[in-house]
Amino acid sequence: MFLQKRRRQIFVNGVDSFDLIGGIPSLAGSVSQRACSFCGARVVLYPITDALHVVHGPIGCAAYTWDIRGSMSSGSELYRNSFSTDLREKHIVFGGEERLYITLMELINQYSPSAVFVYSTCIVGVIGDDIQSVCSEVNKIKCIPVIPVMVEGFLGTKKDGYKIACDAIMNLIGTDATKKLSLYNINILGDFNLAGELWILAGYYKKIGIQVLSSVTGDGKVKDIQNAHRAALNVVQCSGSMMRLAKKMKEKYNIPFIKVSYFGVEDMSIALYDVANFFQDEKLVENARVLVKNELKNLLPSLEFYRRALFKTKAAIYVGGAFKAISLVKALKLIGVKVVIVGTQTGNVDDYKLLKSICDDGCIIVDDSNPVELSEFIKLTKANLFIGGVKERAIAYKLGLGFCDHNHERKLALAGYEGMANFAKEVYETVNSPVWQFVRQYKVL
Ligand code: SF4
Repeated sequence: MFLQKRRRQIFVNGVDSFDLIGGIPSLAGSVSQRACSFCGARVVLYPITDALHVVHGPIGCAAYTWDIRGSMSSGSELYRNSFSTDLREKHIVFGGEERLYITLMELINQYSPSAVFVYSTCIVGVIGDDIQSVCSEVNKIKCIPVIPVMVEGFLGTKKDGYKIACDAIMNLIGTDATKKLSLYNINILGDFNLAGELWILAGYYKKIGIQVLSSVTGDGKVKDIQNAHRAALNVVQCSGSMMRLAKKMKEKYNIPFIKVSYFGVEDMSIALYDVANFFQDEKLVENARVLVKNELKNLLPSLEFYRRALFKTKAAIYVGGAFKAISLVKALKLIGVKVVIVGTQTGNVDDYKLLKSICDDGCIIVDDSNPVELSEFIKLTKANLFIGGVKERAIAYKLGLGFCDHNHERKLALAGYEGMANFAKEVYETVNSPVWQFVRQYKVL
């Protein structure tokens, strides 16, 4: 069912007693669900809406476009274009620097972006194009930030790409100080405005009396990010991708950070209280209290219906970050769903300790899994719902069980109280869809 060398990455709650390990390179031959470093950098940086994103490499690397990400914009739509230098054999032989230079000059003339990100790819790493020099030359001529993102896919995993993306963002932060500040302000780190989620969160903060100075990177704007060093607090949601940035901003600008999750009633409320408490202003705390009370008054009665309807549902979760997995377990419990499998691509030892403490006995907790393992675990635990991302969708449908998308591609807002109502409805409709009676189900082991 799994490769023996992965034994310490698979844990049955209440049965096993070792520390589940995470954050290690994928085992060769295990066919991990993880993506390449370039993909990691791209998912973090791509939601910066008024920037030009140029992939220096063969056209295949650029296939990962905005429409896979699903991040929304309140302004520029430039980020929705996918640009590539489309390297061919002759560039691999003679070098692609000239082609990159011409591409950048042409695109900047045509689109007047606020900044440019140039992504390296595997083949560029192999032939050794000097991307930094080209970017610096274009920067001097065009007087806009032209940032090389040295993220050849073979450098490591998606998580390594996150780190490189954070370093690229650090090049922008602190380069402008003209945005108007209110008394209480924060940066939101690690929300990507999928299906407009950032706008839901910004609405909550506004009601409490807190300004979102910049969002990194959902609905991201270059000028806002350049001003991000002036915020009083960094609020980090997707800690897997953004902790490096939060730590670097603490070191360089002395901005403290807190980790939050906006998914599920409990975590959403804790996030609002934590941020309000940070400013030590009783009025903000009272505003947060009123907001949470009103939202819960509207939401909880509707969840009761789903609790009664979903009590036989068994869910499998496989997502990128551990914080998301932890919030999902809590949210599913709230609507009466039992979690029988939970796994992540990027969790670490501490994340898995926390997961163990909130999961029931018998739940399989897995790090860096693959399609074969996930399929077998589903058969073993008789799960009838799978929650994951684009790569897990195919596994679920092949096994004939319902799937809920909780990844970058989704078009349904799942953050906040509004998101919890959407999530409960989606789980209910997925599990109870009449389509499953016409689909051949997997054989239980
Ligand atoms: S692994 Fe390399 S070639 Fe493949 S998408 Fe990533 S950067 Fe491109």
